[in-house]
Amino acid sequence: MLPARSILKGKNGIFATLLAIQLVIKLHDKYFVPYISEAQLQQATQNIAQQIAGDFKDETPMFVVVLNGAFIFASDLIKQYPGNCEVSFVKLSSYYGLSSTGIVKTLLDVSDQVEGKSVIVVEDIVDTGNTLEELISMFSNLNIKQLKIAAMFYKSEAYDGDYNIDYVGMEIPDKFIVGYGLDYNELGRNLPEVYKIKEGEMRNLVLFGPPGAGKGTQAEFLKEKYNLIHISTGVVFRYNIKNETGLGKLARTYIDAGDLVPDEVTIDMLKDEVLKHPDANGFIFDGFPRTEAQAAALDELLDQLGETVNGCIALEVDTEVLVQRLLERGKTSGRSDDQDEDKIRNRFIEYNEKTAVLKDYYTGQGKFFAVDGVGEISEITKRLSKVIDTL
Ligand code: AMP
Repeated sequence: MLPARSILKGKNGIFATLLAIQLVIKLHDKYFVPYISEAQLQQATQNIAQQIAGDFKDETPMFVVVLNGAFIFASDLIKQYPGNCEVSFVKLSSYYGLSSTGIVKTLLDVSDQVEGKSVIVVEDIVDTGNTLEELISMFSNLNIKQLKIAAMFYKSEAYDGDYNIDYVGMEIPDKFIVGYGLDYNELGRNLPEVYKIKEGEMRNLVLFGPPGAGKGTQAEFLKEKYNLIHISTGVVFRYNIKNETGLGKLARTYIDAGDLVPDEVTIDMLKDEVLKHPDANGFIFDGFPRTEAQAAALDELLDQLGETVNGCIALEVDTEVLVQRLLERGKTSGRSDDQDEDKIRNRFIEYNEKTAVLKDYYTGQGKFFAVDGVGEISEITKRLSKVIDTL
């Protein structure tokens, strides 16, 4: 069995980050995010099976499955069909790449099996209606009793045919989807859930600076302004400590002493947080990365998502000002690591020894920007925004 979380890279170009929560997958050159769950698919299939059974109480219909895409839908539908039925297959070809070419060829025929029968064509998806039109014209030349169409997915925005589809699993917007039998250039058919193509590029920002520089305060404003997900590793650790989770118990002793939590723990936690938001416009990383290993892990993770760090923006504030700020914050924050000057000073030692070098890391990538972190909060937000607007 696979471990709970692992990055798989296969020869066929597919990798999936397996997590209990959500998956972002890559097929060939494109990224896809979860869209329709197995449970929703099963419910829709069951509804269609019931509707058809209601309409065909007194006869035995023949399901004609349109290959290849409909094979999984057809299998589920037919298994759930409560009455007698026959099954056969037809194969047409119309899709190359992401959009319909409009070219339809018959590769596998059922003409000699359907005479006098009630035929239910089983399609995975109806979008432009090209394939459907071809099927309808094919069956209109055959001597069948009646023709019905069952489609798992129906893109009403894209459909320009006249035929009314008799049984629809679910209507979906005009987005490219894969999984549950549907492919992107032959990959993805085996996915049990449906994924949609990931659109647009993210804006990913690293808010950098020593403890107390105002990263958390600024991130609150910036996440609203730029519609980004704010991930503060410190906040996630403190939440876990408060709720006495395994992660919290692991992190507690380090945080109490003002030391950094080990990289393996922090990197795994960060990945989980990122992968919870496959549809995000981008992220503000606050308090991460704090070591070179973390910076490299972040680059690798974003690369696997087809993304990158757009900029690392440092809030610069003098150390002695920060020590006073943190002692002042400690009076109300309830944070153990804000209470004691020795612990605070240790956090600066950790910062100078392990984190400050990241200035060189991001400068080397041409992504480092420094902003004066002393002044009115709103003034500092403006300074940060000026940089972000260029990224
Ligand atoms: P912060 O709220 O960002 O000041 O973080 C509080 C404490 O959480 C730090 O002093 C570390 O003990 C721990 N921590 C937060 N982020 C990280 C990280 N990226 N790597 C290691 N430890 C971290």
